[in-house]
Amino acid sequence: MRADVNDDEGAGAWAGAECRDGTGALASLFFSEQLDDIARAKAICAGCPLREPCFEVARDRREPYGVWGGRLFFKGKVLAVKRPRGRPPKVARPEVAALSA
Ligand code: SF4
Repeated sequence: MRADVNDDEGAGAWAGAECRDGTGALASLFFSEQLDDIARAKAICAGCPLREPCFEVARDRREPYGVWGGRLFFKGKVLAVKRPRGRPPKVARPEVAALSA
């Protein structure tokens, strides 16, 4: 399925989107830079029947940011993984050893 959200037919096609709650309350989740919000947005997309067309339309439209079709767009590129803010440590942090009983 391929639909453009800007025409009448396309708008109807997106009615089944999991993120479409009619209030826009989820927008902050889908455009957040917080890793936990991004993960929640991707989880919502995982159950969406429009996942693939959503991704294709976002890619074609060159969306700069946000979670679209279960994938994260950042500065116009699709990221496999979003790193946390700040520099990575120069020395790997030691593994936390499990306490034995
Ligand atoms: S794939 Fe995600 S962003 Fe796209 S319509 Fe579905 S829930 Fe919304």
